[in-house]
Amino acid sequence: MKVSIAIIGGGPAGLAAAIKAKESGVDDVLIIERDAVLGGILNQCIHNGFGLHTFKEELTGPEYAARFIEKAKELNIPALLKTIVIDISPDKVITAMSKEKGIFTIEADAIVLAMGCRERPRGALNTPGYRPAGIYSAGTAQRYVNIEGKMPGKEVVILGSGDIGLIMARRMTLEGAHVHAVAELMPYSGGLKRNIVQCLDDFNIPLKLSTTVVDIGGKDRVESVTLAKVDSKNKPIPGTEEVIKCDTLLLSCGLLPENELSSQMGIELSPVTGGAKVDESLETSIDGVFAAGNVLHVHDLVDYVSQEAGEAGRHAAEYVRGKASRDGEAPVEIQTGNGVRYTVPVTLRKSRLEDLLTIRFRVGNVYKNPEVCVYLGDKCTQRRKKQICAPGEMEQVILKKADIEAMPDDAKIVIAIENQEA
Ligand SMILES: Cc1cc2nc3c(=O)[nH]c(=O)nc-3n(C[C@H](O)[C@H](O)[C@H](O)COP(=O)(O)OP(=O)(O)OC[C@H]3O[C@@H](n4cnc5c(N)ncnc54)[C@H](O)[C@@H]3O)c2cc1C
Repeated sequence: MKVSIAIIGGGPAGLAAAIKAKESGVDDVLIIERDAVLGGILNQCIHNGFGLHTFKEELTGPEYAARFIEKAKELNIPALLKTIVIDISPDKVITAMSKEKGIFTIEADAIVLAMGCRERPRGALNTPGYRPAGIYSAGTAQRYVNIEGKMPGKEVVILGSGDIGLIMARRMTLEGAHVHAVAELMPYSGGLKRNIVQCLDDFNIPLKLSTTVVDIGGKDRVESVTLAKVDSKNKPIPGTEEVIKCDTLLLSCGLLPENELSSQMGIELSPVTGGAKVDESLETSIDGVFAAGNVLHVHDLVDYVSQEAGEAGRHAAEYVRGKASRDGEAPVEIQTGNGVRYTVPVTLRKSRLEDLLTIRFRVGNVYKNPEVCVYLGDKCTQRRKKQICAPGEMEQVILKKADIEAMPDDAKIVIAIENQEA
C-alpha cells in the first residue's frame, strides 16, 4: 500500500492535519488509528469547555470531535481503525497491525505524527508499602466513569493538579463521591485557572499546594492516604503529616508525549517536552515527517491542537508537492530566555517563512505582571505586559517575517520573561 500523506493517530490533531492536507490539494491522505473510533482523548471528555476559540461555542469533547469527524467524512478521507502503528522507518515505511489484516506495511511520501500523550504512570509516586486496589490514573478513572459507567470509589484523594485531576475532582463529586482534597507537589497548580475555579472552588474542594502523598494505608484496598507538606526541595517536612481516610487515590501527575515510534525512527526529541524538535513548518529532524498536537508538546486547549495540526497538515501537503528543501540553509535558533521552559518550534529557516510565525511556549514558574519579550539578535522587538504567566497555561508570541529577515545572519531569537513582580 502507498499513500501521499499518512497521519498516525485520529484524535483532534490527526483529524485537523488530515483535513488541512486534503484541503491543500493532496488527495491521497490516510488516517491510521488504533482505537475503534476517531476523536482520541476527546471521546472521554464529556464536560464542556471545548472549542471556544475555534467555534465560539462551549462544546463537549465528543461534540468538538464530531465536527472534525464529519468534515473528514465530507472530504472522503479514509481511516484505518483498530489499527496500531508499531514501527516507522526513517524512509517512511509504516508497519501497522490489525486483527483483520495482521501485520502490513504502508509507504508514505510524508507523515504527520499525531499520537497524543499518555499519563505519567504510578511509578512516579515513590511510596513504600503495599500496592492496594483503588489507585488509578485520573484519565483511567475518567474512562471508567464517562465511558464504562463505573465508579472507581467513593472517598477520594487526588494527587496532582493538572487539568485531568481538576476535572476528575468535579466529575467524581457530581457522581456522588466525596473528594477530600487535591494535593499538589509544586507551590502552584499545573492546571488552567478556569479549571481551578470551576472544578475545585465551586465545589469547596481544597487544593493543597506544596503537598505530596507519603504513605498509602490498606493492603487489599486503599484505606487511607497520608499527605505531608514539602520544603523548597520537594522533600516532605516531618510533623506535617495528615491522614485522610479514603478508598481511592487518583493520580494526575503529568502527561508524557507518545514518542516511542518517533525515537525508534531516529527523530530528535526535546528533553524538556519529550516531543520532537520541529522547525517553522513543524517538520521534525527527518525530512517529510511532521508532528502536531500532544505528541509534540502537551497542550492546554484543544483549539490550539487543531490550529497547530492544521498547519502540520498543510506543510505536509506542501512537502509532497515539492516545497523548497531545507538543505543548504543554516537554521536560525529560537532560544529560551529567562523563565521560559521550551519553545515550539526550536528553529526556523528564513527562506521558508510565511508572513507570520506563531511560537508557542510555557513558563517554568508563576510570574505576576511580567513582560513577555522577544529578542531578534540584540534588538527587543516585542514587550507585552501580562497579568500573569503560569506553567499550566500555554503562551504564544507571533513574529513577523519582515523582522526576522532584517536580523543579522548569525543572530538568534530569544523569548524571555522580564520585569515580573518580586
Ligand atoms: C482529561 C482531559 C481533559 C481535557 N479538557 C480539555 C478542555 O476542557 N478543553 C480543551 O480545550 N482541552 C482539553 N483537553 C485537551 C485536549 O483534549 C487535548 O489537548 C487533545 O485531545 C489532544 O489531541 P491529540 O490529537 O494530540 O491527542 P489525542 O486526543 O490523545 O489523540 C491521539 C490519538 O492517537 C492514537 N494513537 C496513539 N498511538 C497510536 C499508534 N501507535 N497507532 C495508531 N494510533 C495511535 C490514539 O489512540 C488517539 O486516538 C483535555 C485533555 C484531557 C486528557
